[in-house]
Amino acid sequence: MNVTYLSLLQHAKPNFLAAKQEILTEWIHENQCAAILHRHAIDMELFYNYYASNVFDYFIGVVSGEVELGKCPVMGELIDYLKNKEIRSEELFILCTHLKRSVINSTYTYHIHTQELFESISYLFDQNFAGVLELYTDTIYQKEQEAIEAGKAKEYFLSNMSHEIRTPLNAILGFVSLLKEENLGAVHQKYLDIIAQSGENLLHIINDILDFSKLRSGEFAIDPKVFDIHEQISNTLELFVPSANVKSIALNYTINEKIPHCIFADSFRIQQIVGNLLSNAIKFSQPKRTIEVDVDVIDSLLTISIRDFGSGIAPEDHERIFNPFYQAQEGTKLGVGGSGLGLSICKQLASQMGGKITLESKLGWGSLFVVTLPVEVAEQGLCEPKISKKCSNCFEGKVLVAEDNEPNKELIRMVLERYGLAVMIVSNGEEACIEAMENRYDLILMDEQMPFMNGNEATLKILAYEQEHHLPHTPIVALTANVIKGSRQRAFEHGYDAFIGKPIVLVEIEEIFDRFLTKKESSAVIDKTAVTPLTEIQRLKHSLMLEDDQIIQLLELFHTKMKQILPELKEVIERRDYERIANIAHSIKGSGGNFRYEKFSGAAAEIEKAARKQSVKFNYEKGYEKLEEVYAKLHSSR
Ligand code: ADP
Repeated sequence: MNVTYLSLLQHAKPNFLAAKQEILTEWIHENQCAAILHRHAIDMELFYNYYASNVFDYFIGVVSGEVELGKCPVMGELIDYLKNKEIRSEELFILCTHLKRSVINSTYTYHIHTQELFESISYLFDQNFAGVLELYTDTIYQKEQEAIEAGKAKEYFLSNMSHEIRTPLNAILGFVSLLKEENLGAVHQKYLDIIAQSGENLLHIINDILDFSKLRSGEFAIDPKVFDIHEQISNTLELFVPSANVKSIALNYTINEKIPHCIFADSFRIQQIVGNLLSNAIKFSQPKRTIEVDVDVIDSLLTISIRDFGSGIAPEDHERIFNPFYQAQEGTKLGVGGSGLGLSICKQLASQMGGKITLESKLGWGSLFVVTLPVEVAEQGLCEPKISKKCSNCFEGKVLVAEDNEPNKELIRMVLERYGLAVMIVSNGEEACIEAMENRYDLILMDEQMPFMNGNEATLKILAYEQEHHLPHTPIVALTANVIKGSRQRAFEHGYDAFIGKPIVLVEIEEIFDRFLTKKESSAVIDKTAVTPLTEIQRLKHSLMLEDDQIIQLLELFHTKMKQILPELKEVIERRDYERIANIAHSIKGSGGNFRYEKFSGAAAEIEKAARKQSVKFNYEKGYEKLEEVYAKLHSSR
């Protein structure tokens, strides 16, 4: 060190020694220093008595020439301590600067301040600080690098392992689904269901981990393309209908009809976000609740809100549930499981797409998650033309249908024609026998209950005729609204080849066609589940695969029929003609069922059930009133 500086400092040494306590106290209580020490939970006593005190003594030692510059005995230890407390190098710089300032301030207290002494102190400290800071920055940098490397290795491991686990799991699930097709006993089927369900859950978790690690390591890429937003949202909702049904949860959605169809965005990731939010909404809702999904596009912002009336989330958890692996108390109480990764992935996905997810929730009130994403409206006509995906015109054959209910007849005709089939419809068992004996059909759909001759009698007659004349057998499928336990068995006992419950579910009727008819080469995929959108027409379009005008036509038929049949029912009720009451109520039940008017069908079913038992206790007038009341609501909602 410069000799002049040293002698000046040596001269001031007694003052520094006398001011030790004052200098250190002022230093650690200076606003900025105190804030840093507090922020990093520094043990003030230890810091003052040990580190600060030793650093000060070292400073005096250098001044008196007893200690070599740079050889502070506690410096290494202090650096480690500060590093473990995660003090940043900028903060250390502030601490050092303030120690220097406190020492300089003491020269004013003792009236020994001169420009030269000021420069001497600055020189001594700056020399030291430069070395300390360099050392500190190096070690901090090294620590950061180590953390980055360790993080990368962890992400790499997670991503590799998830991928490796997924591959065999796909094979397991694939073979389980093949096994499920086999004719196994109920117990084995149940075991397979459990394996399949657990496998699906595991796959879900693994996919989450894979996405999570990809998002963290920056490997993740958004892949936008043009797609039909209307179709996409309704497809996504349909995937959740079965799990909502298990808890009798109604899934209602409204999509602004005016939203353009073709949108440019990452449809897969949008589906992933909506899917995750929906699955949570179902998971955290009590049975029989409702979930409402609203979709709109305003000023190129796609807004999807998912409102549930479930457990709700406490305010202190609103932010935390978006952190990885965090699960709220309330959810844990329900014991519904999960990895706690879903929302964190959704949040990151939304932000990668330039959007966000907001949450409004209260315990007991339920939750409202709103996803907002910027999207580009694409030229209409660029997205796939319309649930071309339908399996229209995909079977060949001639089908005889025996059905007495007018709206049902029309419905079946339209459905069958859509599948590309030639259709002949008759109104009772007798006509069915005549048709089946005179013409060849590939399949017969036989309503069980019809006037004059019911389906069971007609089937037996047709079978006897076939045997007598050595004719090839035409499969006969029972159509019945009496879907109760044992119906299937009963249908087989009556000689039917198969059985379909009413209301007709497309996936079931398609399975029947698959079994008994020839498939055309160019058949496309069909939507497998029905969904419950808000408007009648939308709702029926989805479940029946028909066009608007066909639905309107069917509804007209339904209402015409009801106008005629409801007074008839009233009249036979007055006369207590139990057989007629049961038959008319049965017909009403079936018609209502086709349109998924569950309340209406249910009211008719009650009357039918009582009349079949010829119950005298049942209040038929009240039953009829209820039926009329529900019908009036249906009629007014048109
Ligand atoms: P997971 O559902 O797999 O636990 P998520 O990240 O999707 O993971 O959700 C994190 C937590 O947030 C859940 O465990 C639950 O506590 C809470 N949560 C999410 N959605 C809802 C909801 N709709 N209602 C109530 N709690 C919810």
